[in-house]
Amino acid sequence: MRVTEKAPAKLNLSLDTPMRYFDGSPRWDMVMTSADLADYVSVETHQRPATIKVYTDSGFLPNDQRNLAYQAAHILRSRFHCREGVTIRIKKNIPVAAGLGGGSSDAAAVLRALNNIWELGLSKRELAQISLTIDSDVPYCIYSQLAHVTGHGEKIELLPAQPHYWAVIAKQQISVSTPQILRQINYEKLEHLDNDRLIECLQAGDWQNAVQYMGNVLEPLTMSYHPEIKQLKDKMVSLGADVAQMSGTGPTVFAICHTESRAKRIQNSISGFCRDVHVVTLL
Ligand code: ATP
Repeated sequence: MRVTEKAPAKLNLSLDTPMRYFDGSPRWDMVMTSADLADYVSVETHQRPATIKVYTDSGFLPNDQRNLAYQAAHILRSRFHCREGVTIRIKKNIPVAAGLGGGSSDAAAVLRALNNIWELGLSKRELAQISLTIDSDVPYCIYSQLAHVTGHGEKIELLPAQPHYWAVIAKQQISVSTPQILRQINYEKLEHLDNDRLIECLQAGDWQNAVQYMGNVLEPLTMSYHPEIKQLKDKMVSLGADVAQMSGTGPTVFAICHTESRAKRIQNSISGFCRDVHVVTLL
């Protein structure tokens, strides 16, 4: 049996971390949403060969157990003693290692697909619990809808659906190492966000006010290595974005606009110096 799942990119409308856990990993306090920029993940099960195979149309990605989609199939197969083989084909549209959670979303898509194919009957909450060992963004990606995400990434409180907004998603040719950024967080220097106010606005459907509480506390750290991220963000704001900020640990910057014409204007103005630019709606 074969199932194809859409695996959307995630965006951090807010990203904050109040402290580190004893194991050194950050405790997250984030508001996340997803955008209509998506990979397509086709999952097929078979008796023979009884192995997991991953194929992608990207030359950069591993096809073995280092691929998060492979890990997702492996975890579910082991936990539920399923003996069938799994073939995963990923059409990549989300830029890789960009702060857009592409690998996590592919892994979540595999979990949803296998839950369906093997008729495991797991709820999204159960899938999210199982998925946390893959990556902290996978539990959110099981839902891929506006949510407040805390803890290691496993505590997810859904928020009301957002209005029809546009996002300009732009990734410059910069490499950012997520583990390196996370290791270097100086908790005493972080300028924390008011996530409570942001969530109040989102719950009231007040996006006009919500944008002033959005932000990413890791921007100064990533921007200290890559000042061009700040330049791109400032440019998007000067071109009329409602808000512009980095997603995850970067390097992607996204702008949110309430009209498509504004989003297109930003795209036209920045595509001269940034080739990887997408105008999409928020899901
Ligand atoms: P993170 O912040 O969790 O590192 P990201 O959102 O910045 O993730 P991803 O596109 O998920 O970026 O890639 C992160 C790493 O995961 C890359 O080093 C990539 O090689 C690896 N990876 C494994 N599987 C996948 C996949 N299916 N798609 C994309 N990247 C994958």
